Amino acid sequence: MLKEKLTYQQIADHYGVNQGTIYNMIKREKQKRFQLPSRKAKEIIKQFEITDPPVDLKAIDKHEGFKLFFNKLPNNISGIIESNKKEKNIFINSDHAPTRQRFSLGHELGHHFLNHFEDGEHKDTTTIFRKEDEVLEIDREANRFASELLMPAVLVKKQIALAHRELDPELLEQMASTFEVSTIALTYRLQNLGFELL
Ligand SMILES: [Zn+2]
Repeated sequence: MLKEKLTYQQIADHYGVNQGTIYNMIKREKQKRFQLPSRKAKEIIKQFEITDPPVDLKAIDKHEGFKLFFNKLPNNISGIIESNKKEKNIFINSDHAPTRQRFSLGHELGHHFLNHFEDGEHKDTTTIFRKEDEVLEIDREANRFASELLMPAVLVKKQIALAHRELDPELLEQMASTFEVSTIALTYRLQNLGFELL
């Protein structure tokens, strides 16, 4: 903390402005960076003119030129993305629950759309389900992207409005099946969007 403050002070001195200005600039940059994955996912929802759930991830995948494989993979690997000059492949662990496979695909697409790597391979082990501080930054970003892509805020709100009822467990189940996501993923999403669950 102290070290961070000293750094801000040093930068501030360098530019001849006060420390608060630098602090706010960095805070704004961090916020922008934090919002980037969901902003990108929102752009894609618009671009593909997606107006109803479930979001067709396979169409997006195809449009981006990725070959999609549902394979037997070691249980701790949920997905792999390979992107190099010769090939663009995404592998999804076919042993996992269908909702998890969808989330894994959204996650891998996140790595692609967020330009996390230009040439290479990225394997997603079950670490993506570990505690926040143990997860790689790019995987956190890919998760935020997947969450917005699979459960776009605008479509989630629309579904709730159309339901004309309280957000009870039954509606939660119904919506999870409409969006083809797990109820846990939907619960997190609704909480992030500020909805109160019964
Ligand atoms: Zn990942």
